[in-house]
Amino acid sequence: MSCSYADGLSPYDNKGVLGLEEKYESSETLRLKCGLLADWIQGARHVVVHTGAGISTAAGIPDFRGPNGVWTLEQKGLKPEKGVSFDDAIPTKTHMSLKRLIECQKIKFIVSQNIDGLHLRSGVSRQYLAELHGNMFVEQCDKCGRQFIRHFATTSVGKKCLDTVCRSEQIGGRPCRGRMHDTILDWEHNLPDNDLALSDLHSSVADLSICLGTTLQIIPSGNLPLYTKKYGGRLVICNLQPTKHDKKADLVINGNVEEIITNVMKKLGLEIPEYSTDFDPTRNSDLSSADLDWTIPSSRIKEMKVLYKKVCKPTKRNRKTFMYERERECEKPAKARKKSLPIKKEEMIKVKEESPMDSSDIKQEVVDNEGDII
Ligand SMILES: [Zn+2]
Repeated sequence: MSCSYADGLSPYDNKGVLGLEEKYESSETLRLKCGLLADWIQGARHVVVHTGAGISTAAGIPDFRGPNGVWTLEQKGLKPEKGVSFDDAIPTKTHMSLKRLIECQKIKFIVSQNIDGLHLRSGVSRQYLAELHGNMFVEQCDKCGRQFIRHFATTSVGKKCLDTVCRSEQIGGRPCRGRMHDTILDWEHNLPDNDLALSDLHSSVADLSICLGTTLQIIPSGNLPLYTKKYGGRLVICNLQPTKHDKKADLVINGNVEEIITNVMKKLGLEIPEYSTDFDPTRNSDLSSADLDWTIPSSRIKEMKVLYKKVCKPTKRNRKTFMYERERECEKPAKARKKSLPIKKEEMIKVKEESPMDSSDIKQEVVDNEGDII
């Protein structure tokens, strides 16, 4: 569970704003806002969803900054009660809804900060998913860089060496004597290049970014949805607690993510599929190494770059800044290509609420960074 993950990380003091009060919309407001979100999804050409720990609490995995979150309790010298193990957790309604929305092409990409592997286990294929902080069910070769799905969660975090061998040769590659490592980032690690590249590109191309269950405090993950705004798209934030970017959002829905997604799926007329081990590659021992290959093909990034150039030109970008680091000097944001999509009058049901979160409360390590990409 998150606790063992948290225990495995290095000590780190600046964990952002913790334990803010959770808020719930009235049922009528929730219904109206979910209806508006469903309409926006229906009308959008490129939707990206950004997910955080809040979408896995229904699976029994504690979050980090909620009132009973791992970091909130740690600040009080406490630990969460022993929850479900990563191996025993199963994808929630939210994970299964996102899989369905991907299948019917209502959503083009998921950017996740979660390391619990539940998106992978819901059956979402690699081309639709970036896992910015790693995945407990994925291991990576330190020599050829290939990633493979594991049948059990790793016991280590922080990119430590595992006792498994590289399977490159089994998928038709060259014999590789590389050593496999877990993919879970520690605080000082840079984000995985290809996952981050795809996240940047999709977030820029998107005309709708939806954030689910994240306070958007960790960078660069928390700033990616802002690229959608920068290029004229809409930003929707669904979270129980206030988030760092509520004031920039076109719609904020304060509520339980499971309830929100259920409402939205109903409005879209889509069934939420049940989780099945048949679609969970970690639970299927008959799969070949090729089926378990979780490496992002470089062709995907090339394709997305072409789309990016089509949709986001003519803004010039400096390729040198393609790679992010977790902490970086702020740069001037580039001029937006077009104005934000106007919200129709009848859609103006958004209740503007002052967020109690002040950016000055957020320490350097989680400070905003709106620098250019690519
Ligand atoms: Zn290898």
